[in-house]
Amino acid sequence: MSREPIPVAKGDGIGPEIMDAALHILIEGGAQIDPIFIEIGEKVYLSGHTSGIAPEAWEIIRNHRVLYKAPITTPQGGGYKSLNVTIRKSLSLFANVRPAVSYSPVIPSKHENMDVVIIRENEEDLYAGIEHQQTHEVVQCLKLISRPGCERIIRYAFEYAKAYGRKKITCMTKDNIMKLTDGLFHRVFDEIALEYPDIQTEHRIIDIGIAMLADTPEQFDVVVTPNLYGDIASDVTAQVAGTVGIAPSANIGEKHAMFEAIHGSAPDIAGKGIANPSALLLSGVHMLIYIGQAEAAEVIHNAWLKAIEDKIWTPDITRKAKFSGITEYTEVGTKEFAKAVVSRLGKRPEKLAPVEYKHLPKLNMKSISSVSNRNTKTMLLDGVDIFVRNSKLTAKELGHKLEEIAKPEYKLVMMSNRGQVVYPKGFSETFCTDHWRCRFKRANNSAQFTHSDIRSLLYRIEQSGLEWIKLENLYLLDDKPAYTLGQGE
Ligand code: NAD
Repeated sequence: MSREPIPVAKGDGIGPEIMDAALHILIEGGAQIDPIFIEIGEKVYLSGHTSGIAPEAWEIIRNHRVLYKAPITTPQGGGYKSLNVTIRKSLSLFANVRPAVSYSPVIPSKHENMDVVIIRENEEDLYAGIEHQQTHEVVQCLKLISRPGCERIIRYAFEYAKAYGRKKITCMTKDNIMKLTDGLFHRVFDEIALEYPDIQTEHRIIDIGIAMLADTPEQFDVVVTPNLYGDIASDVTAQVAGTVGIAPSANIGEKHAMFEAIHGSAPDIAGKGIANPSALLLSGVHMLIYIGQAEAAEVIHNAWLKAIEDKIWTPDITRKAKFSGITEYTEVGTKEFAKAVVSRLGKRPEKLAPVEYKHLPKLNMKSISSVSNRNTKTMLLDGVDIFVRNSKLTAKELGHKLEEIAKPEYKLVMMSNRGQVVYPKGFSETFCTDHWRCRFKRANNSAQFTHSDIRSLLYRIEQSGLEWIKLENLYLLDDKPAYTLGQGE
């Protein structure tokens, strides 16, 4: 087998230590890979690339199908964008797969039979990173959820379950509050579930869903969820299973994939030689499966299980063990742990279940990429939400003023402040900021609302001395309102 060239980023903090250890084990274990080292992360940020990645490194990453990446440090403030998010989105790595398995009774965990895979949407949601200061008092982060984005991740979750013999998928959202965004994710889940009648499905509201993942993870199999919830849920499951030091992750797209640990660069222990390389190593195991080297993956994973079973542990695990009253183990640093795994290559665990990777079915990525026709719905303008900055007038005064401005062709339907309706109905107790959402429609429904109506309203607002700061069009989608009511409307 010819060696596969693989871009490798050693990252920041504990990154270089754990990457050296992981590569040592992978290559000793028979992985046919040729690392091409690239520099990304803190040094690159501080040398003036606000994205943390130089064009030469991009070139190398784009020319290869996988990237093996240690954690990196995103400098705080200063307009630096997260490199992880940039790579995931630029390469369209839409699926973040995060398995959490407990190795009880070997590694202490309250949950002996925990084996959950979190499949997290990786490109959309609040991670779109579109944030604006709108007024002196109010900032905004746009939560973007698209139908093609939902279809791809949810279809991926079902294909994953099918390929790996998983029985149940739980969708987790907060669609009782976010009816349109999370509502779309839930709806697409219900639609796609019909295509997979052999897989059991359920939906849970995310807050109780994560609480149950922490309390009784045994009841879950595969969980699919939008980006932010998946990020939080997978740290919870990793920690509940044992430690973040053993939790791998894969970022999968149609053309590229990136394999990394779920944890960060752990600056608190960097340079001490005590970091656990397991999460990055197991990510490397998944990378080998992805590039068709499942045999080496199996040998390495079983040697790792044997080392863990023989209680050769880094301090993140021994700390947990001490809490559970376990005193018999060998505490080792990063390099010693790597040596312990290498010395067990060819062995299989006896108490823990060995892994079998030789005959894994392939995921059907073709069916994942087929998204439904995007242009089937009629979209007609129904009105407009104009956002106004105002800290002088009360809700009543502003409402009266805007009502007068709107007459006679238009009407002010309602005003809300931070989503809560404050005009024409509303309570004097409601706290108001300087950020007002003002909803306008036609006074009578005989004529179609158009863009020139919006221009006319904006002009009138400007002429009255008020300041509009942004607007959102209100659409009817197949004759149904495609916008939510104000809270309390
Ligand atoms: P972290 O995951 O780096 O650390 C959290 C805790 O877990 C720390 O106590 C740390 O010592 C411990 N820990 C993490 N990995 C460990 C390992 N392999 N072995 C032993 N202990 C381990 O999270 P943080 O402190 O919130 O973030 C630190 C930096 O990492 C930040 O700059 C953040 O932006 C970055 N980060 C990067 C990634 C990534 O590159 N994918 C992910 C998350 C955070």
